[in-house]
Amino acid sequence: MENILLLVHTEADGSLAKSALESLQTAQALASTIDASGFSVGIVGEKFQAAADQIAGCGAAKYLGVEGAEFAQPRYASDAAAAEAICKTAQATLVIAPATSRWNRVLAGVAQRLNGRVDTHITGLTAENSAVSVSRWYYRQRMEAVLQRTQRPWFLLIDPGSQPAWEGAAGSASVEKVEVSLADTSKRTTVTGIRQLSADAQTIRPDADLLFVTGAGWTKKQADGQTHVPEAEKLIFDFLKTTRASLGSSKSLVDLGGEGQAVISFLTHLNQIGQTGSTPRHPKGLSTCCHGEEPHAVGWRFIKERRAISLDANCGWARGKADVLYVADAFAVMEKVNALLAAK
Ligand SMILES: Cc1cc2nc3c(=O)[nH]c(=O)nc-3n(C[C@H](O)[C@H](O)[C@H](O)COP(=O)(O)OP(=O)(O)OC[C@H]3O[C@@H](n4cnc5c(N)ncnc54)[C@H](O)[C@@H]3O)c2cc1C
Repeated sequence: MENILLLVHTEADGSLAKSALESLQTAQALASTIDASGFSVGIVGEKFQAAADQIAGCGAAKYLGVEGAEFAQPRYASDAAAAEAICKTAQATLVIAPATSRWNRVLAGVAQRLNGRVDTHITGLTAENSAVSVSRWYYRQRMEAVLQRTQRPWFLLIDPGSQPAWEGAAGSASVEKVEVSLADTSKRTTVTGIRQLSADAQTIRPDADLLFVTGAGWTKKQADGQTHVPEAEKLIFDFLKTTRASLGSSKSLVDLGGEGQAVISFLTHLNQIGQTGSTPRHPKGLSTCCHGEEPHAVGWRFIKERRAISLDANCGWARGKADVLYVADAFAVMEKVNALLAAK
């Protein structure tokens, strides 16, 4: 019989992020389909009570928590010690955790300490006759494999965005505190601050409902024989500002910077979608001024509803890559869309 443990950490405000709720949904669904003693929840953070209360209606058999000022900051030594202590207390055989940067850094090491195994980028869990199988993609999302392991504990890092998030009632949960005594060396890394882009300059938003993709067409000569890069930049920026969509790009557009051409200033290679870029997960995607060639469109594999605006009626999107193709001038369309959004 499996002992399932959901392992989560709190956010800065003490709450649980969407990725944690997605892993909760996964753990709960698994516990109801296999021979398991329900499931436990382990929480690490400065304070665990608010997080436990947030998911009090999830039906967990037990809540375990590690809290304290030294667990507020992500730090390998303290996070690994906390996760190890919770896994031991829960006697976990299956540990389900969201693949956040904090857990990605730590849980392989914890699996090693407990003589377990870890698998990352999990996008699905199924069970048949209590045999648990997990799925993940290989070779830049070209092949999906289904894996089973006999070694326990088995740590499973669930890719954010791949599962529905748990939705249930908050309440009041009783949490058993797990004590962790940290050696002095465990505290020698101190986070003194975080340097990050301002909210408007941060254009990659994995939790956004919409992926907005820009292609090289935004920088090409238009019907009047001129380029209109500053206008393009403003249209894109205004759209992102009102919708909080995540910004993706074709390779051609992000590569232009290296060639010294006029480019959209807030785009970097990190925005690139495709075979040599990223494969994000958003419910919807809108491509603009992009041709939709296979090396780009392969990065749209997990986008559920795809639309594109291109002047070219024969572009890649028209050949089965998009659900809807608007054969239109993206400058005109986005100007109208922005005006409608502003009016709203
Ligand atoms: C090994 C390899 C790996 C690659 N990996 C990637 C990858 O990861 N990601 C990626 O994106 N590409 C990748 N590529 C490149 C890819 O094949 C394409 O070259 C690239 O995606 C083209 O970018 P684009 O569609 O923006 O530009 P273009 O092909 O130049 O298309 C621009 C489009 O904009 C349209 N347009 C122009 N003006 C307007 C307007 N006013 N309104 C509407 N539409 C307009 C044009 O009609 C045209 O269709 C890779 C290629 C190779 C060989």
